Amino acid sequence: MPPSRQRNANTESVDNYLKAILALSGPEEQRVSSTSLADRLGVAPASVTNMLQKLASSLLPLVEYERHRGVLLSAAGKRRALEVLRHHRLIETFLYEVLDYPLEEVHEEAERLEHFISERFEERIAVKLGHPKFDPHGHCIPAMDGKMPKQISVPLTDLREQGTFVVDSVSDQDALLLRRLRAHGITPGARLQVASRPPDDFVLRTSGVSKALHLSRDLAAAVRIRSAH
Ligand SMILES: [Zn+2]
Repeated sequence: MPPSRQRNANTESVDNYLKAILALSGPEEQRVSSTSLADRLGVAPASVTNMLQKLASSLLPLVEYERHRGVLLSAAGKRRALEVLRHHRLIETFLYEVLDYPLEEVHEEAERLEHFISERFEERIAVKLGHPKFDPHGHCIPAMDGKMPKQISVPLTDLREQGTFVVDSVSDQDALLLRRLRAHGITPGARLQVASRPPDDFVLRTSGVSKALHLSRDLAAAVRIRSAH
């Protein structure tokens, strides 16, 4: 592999680790176990340990890692993770709004492009789109300085009571689920009337549709909701 290609492959892989740690550590920035990281990235636990040791011992460490306590992003690691996330979500928004990609196809394309766009390209997309705050899945786009407001929402599967809610966001991880949700009218901003929840099915109605919808646990797990008020 020519040196430049090699460097790209490394950058891409490092970026993916940083992004996965950011996602798994959540708003409370908890330590992430290498097992859950291996699961999310679909790689062997031994390779995860290797990579984390490398990232923790570089000149500018991107993570803080202790074998039995898991891993945290360092300030530099968090900055890079948020930058890649900003790229990812801006690209998704651009593909969706300007190039008319279907919602379920933007994630995969953004996964490829996010590592390689220049700062100039990023800025041009942001300007063209009017500095959007949310991507088409309903996720916050980090600002240029890395600031990202906390989203107040809960997974539909955590719902404790019936009522009317608004879809806050849908997961971008599974294109098939996303297509099925979209077919049911469950997209960010849609209103949901939830009539029952497990141990039964999730039974709900979307606005303007009179027929009740039975949602499997899989589908429900991909949806985050917030109060309608
Ligand atoms: Zn995505």
